[in-house]
Amino acid sequence: MEEDSSLVIAAPEALPREAAARVHTSEYLKDLDGDEHTERTQASELPLSRQIVNAYYLATAGTCLAAKLALEHGGGMNLSGGFHHAYADRAEGFCYLNDVAIAARQLQKDHGVGKVAIVDCDVHQGNGTARIFEDDGTVFTFSMHQRDNYPMFKEKSDLDVDLPNGVGDDEFCEELSGALERISNDFEADFVFYLAGVDPYENDQLGGLGVSIDGMRRRDRLALEWCRASKTPVAVVLAGGYAFNTDDTVRMHCNTYHELESVIGQ
Ligand SMILES: [Zn+2]
Repeated sequence: MEEDSSLVIAAPEALPREAAARVHTSEYLKDLDGDEHTERTQASELPLSRQIVNAYYLATAGTCLAAKLALEHGGGMNLSGGFHHAYADRAEGFCYLNDVAIAARQLQKDHGVGKVAIVDCDVHQGNGTARIFEDDGTVFTFSMHQRDNYPMFKEKSDLDVDLPNGVGDDEFCEELSGALERISNDFEADFVFYLAGVDPYENDQLGGLGVSIDGMRRRDRLALEWCRASKTPVAVVLAGGYAFNTDDTVRMHCNTYHELESVIGQ
């Protein structure tokens, strides 16, 4: 672990299987751990290999650690995570384990956290997350995404904002501000997970919105200032980002970190 005045860098320990079992069904985890190609694992768009599955367990442990550090320091960030398409009983998209759902349950069971809000600003709907917590009043699921994009079938989050194609910086940020205000009115979160996917970016290969790099940073600031205003700890995960120019993706993820650092430093 390295430390300076504002930054702690930490590596996660292996994820205990019981942590994953709080969200995922035993049948699905058995398939995953045994490299079994079944209807539960085949919905993934990734190969099923030991290395890839282990990477998902490690990334999920990173989200759990970021959440734990956020409790101690006010904010934490996993340089991975945001696998919001994974359902309790099956994989989907690029997602084998729903890391944020697992970390939310861990906070509640092991760290005495009551109510958790999940703010998902990836361009794709957080369908797995919405379904996992659909009957759970202690977890508020919010997804702001492009309407005409994957997944074809959208689940019902506690709050969904479906954006039309091509939305730019101002409209995107106005929609987010309005949604955050509605969440504040409906739900008093003790902890926030922020999925800071950078695929709403105008030059993303999988996205169809029109948000600039500056607009993405404004979005991060809005979401993180909202957490700071209510002194709610926040764990940030990367989620998606597929810019034609990979340097753009890296820059936007870095900007998210810088916004988190500046908000936590206040
Ligand atoms: Zn995405």
